[in-house]
Amino acid sequence: MFYFDDFYGKKILKSTLLSDYDCFFTTRNFVLTPSNREDLKQEADDNRLFLKQKLGCGDIITAKQTHSANVEIVSPAQSFYDNTDGLISNIPDSLMILNFADCVPIILYSKHDNTGALIHAGWRGSALEIAKKTSKIMQNKFNIKSSNIIALIGPSIGKCCFETGEDVFLQLIKDTSMTNLYTQKGNKFFIDLKLLNKYQLLDTGIINIDICDYCTCCMSDIFFSYRKEKGITARHSAVMKIKRG
Ligand SMILES: [Zn+2]
Repeated sequence: MFYFDDFYGKKILKSTLLSDYDCFFTTRNFVLTPSNREDLKQEADDNRLFLKQKLGCGDIITAKQTHSANVEIVSPAQSFYDNTDGLISNIPDSLMILNFADCVPIILYSKHDNTGALIHAGWRGSALEIAKKTSKIMQNKFNIKSSNIIALIGPSIGKCCFETGEDVFLQLIKDTSMTNLYTQKGNKFFIDLKLLNKYQLLDTGIINIDICDYCTCCMSDIFFSYRKEKGITARHSAVMKIKRG
């Protein structure tokens, strides 16, 4: 279950599945990435410093997100990853963020292995199955059991607001008999990106999955929404600090 919490005065969203871990989603109240909102640049700079200080971490590890299915394993010597939409780390005390405004943010974490991943899954990344790919890398390269992985599918644009044409629909919904994934209205389709990503994770054996009901477009007073704000918007973030075992 998701719940709003307080991070030293900043509003964040957490899940009961990882309540004792520093894995959460930020809100408009805790912007870390200004994107093209120049007016929020100073606030974001201040908040990143605040985040590092409160969590006792060094450089924030992040990526230039490109709606790809490229997943990188974090190395101790590198904090920025170009052309990357998934990051996996098992380095104690490493602090990762990825940034979102409608796309689906996914956190994967194994408490048993203290290894975790952040995933940026917009419609393109979802079509490329980046969630499934990241889960498989965690299991195969780090020897993590799927039963030990907890997945949080965070706030994103919901089925209520994610309207597409047939071209995007056909790239996302490979089996059109799965009618719980979409609603058709004439030549428009409303697609449930969060549920699509949940199915990808279930396919890899993950069963502990918490899925957030919030739609960023409907709740643009709390989260950033690219669609609602017509592209002029900052980003909320998925944050993960790897616990020292
Ligand atoms: Zn909505």
